[in-house]
Amino acid sequence: MAVRRQRDGGKWKGKEADRRRLLARSLPGGYAYVDLEEDLDDPALDEAVIRAGGRVIRSLYDFRGVPERLAERCRNLARGPAEIPKAAVMPGSTKDLPRLIDAYRQLESEEKILIGMGEFGLFSRILATKLGCFLTFCSVSETQAAAPGHLDPQKLVELYRFREQDRDTFLCGVIGQPIAHSRSPEFHNHGYEALGLNGVYIPFLVDDVPSFFRVAGLLDIRGFSVTMPHKQAVLPHLDERDGVLEKIGACNTVVRREGGGWFGTNTDVEGFLAPLAAEVPDLLKSETRATVIGAGGGARSVVYALRSRGIRPLIINRTIEKARALAELFDCEWSGFGGEGLARIRENSDLIVQATGVGMEPETEGDPLPDYRFSGAEVVYDLVYQPLVTVFRKRAQVAGCRTVSGLDMLFAQGAAQFEHYTGQAYPREALDHAK
Ligand code: NAP
Repeated sequence: MAVRRQRDGGKWKGKEADRRRLLARSLPGGYAYVDLEEDLDDPALDEAVIRAGGRVIRSLYDFRGVPERLAERCRNLARGPAEIPKAAVMPGSTKDLPRLIDAYRQLESEEKILIGMGEFGLFSRILATKLGCFLTFCSVSETQAAAPGHLDPQKLVELYRFREQDRDTFLCGVIGQPIAHSRSPEFHNHGYEALGLNGVYIPFLVDDVPSFFRVAGLLDIRGFSVTMPHKQAVLPHLDERDGVLEKIGACNTVVRREGGGWFGTNTDVEGFLAPLAAEVPDLLKSETRATVIGAGGGARSVVYALRSRGIRPLIINRTIEKARALAELFDCEWSGFGGEGLARIRENSDLIVQATGVGMEPETEGDPLPDYRFSGAEVVYDLVYQPLVTVFRKRAQVAGCRTVSGLDMLFAQGAAQFEHYTGQAYPREALDHAK
């Protein structure tokens, strides 16, 4: 039980004397834990909590950041062995996390509750058991969270399997900015659950990649996925890269090496090819005439993948110089949008891959090629998967085209990552759950 003051992030606006009276009056309710602040000096109330059979959680809040000497300050909170010290601090950047994690290490064998509030600190709520905390906090609803970063209990228990975690739970995750929308935690955690692996996969909001590599070392992270905008920024921190990554220059998968250091690869290539191989294998031959719309990171993986199968796609992009640069790198043809571009797409239309962000939420009305009329013979692959069926894909379906889903690519590249992180194949039954 807590009656939190506004300055501690709570809703209590009344007089302090009234708050203490309310706390005292509530004790016969039989609360196991009563949250009292570090500056609350009321021995009678402390004793009343014990007499009522409860324990005091002695708390410190800092919304300005992660204070220096956090472990020492947390340790000094408890006014006796019956009290549980609690520090809730607010990391404002990935740069603040090593200091927070250091406090967990210093307090490793001591009873405590140590929380990083907000999205940068989310890991601390999910990993409370692994980090040796007495308990974690959650809110009935995330949209009306009682404190910044509270998860709802169902997500904590069902998605992150909070009750099954222990000190040995291995850790993987995904980094990005933003990251809250990511489907990867569902995908990987359902895979761990299906195989009975003692692991958890969590989203990390990251604004500073070098700091995250320190975090990954301190938390002993086994591997992590990388999404926008960090696919290039991780490159200087890798100790080993495979040939795919060398050529593509964008990394979506980082794995801890056995002897130390980090290995980087890109599973988008595998992820892109897998649905084609499953659904339209006849297209994966050098005679296939293909077009790739877009020249960003996704398109780069697509072009590499097609070239690896002997297909030389036409590359179309809004910024024509980028289409040319990508085409020159992979020995392909290129064009801009417009009349000539449309005619050339028609000549290269066995497979049309949509690899721009157009049509993606929240701007779902977008269509990258509104003037292109599908004949119905094209196979259309849209990398965008939010929404699952974009305007572009819908038009293709209505014209009678076979279409391939970006979600299948997402899951296929995720399955390849899963194998890197766990050494095991992704379990098919978990896929239905993740979908
Ligand atoms: P990116 O590197 O930022 O590239 C964005 C591409 O979209 C560029 O070619 C850009 O053209 C083009 N573009 C953006 N706005 C446009 C507009 N209004 N009109 C025409 N072209 C426009 O992004 P990315 O990483 O390649 O991702 C692109 C999309 O693919 C995203 O929706 C992403 O979610 C999706 N994706 C999906 C998967 C999957 O597993 N399914 C994997 C990777 C990517 P300019 O060069 O002219 O700016």
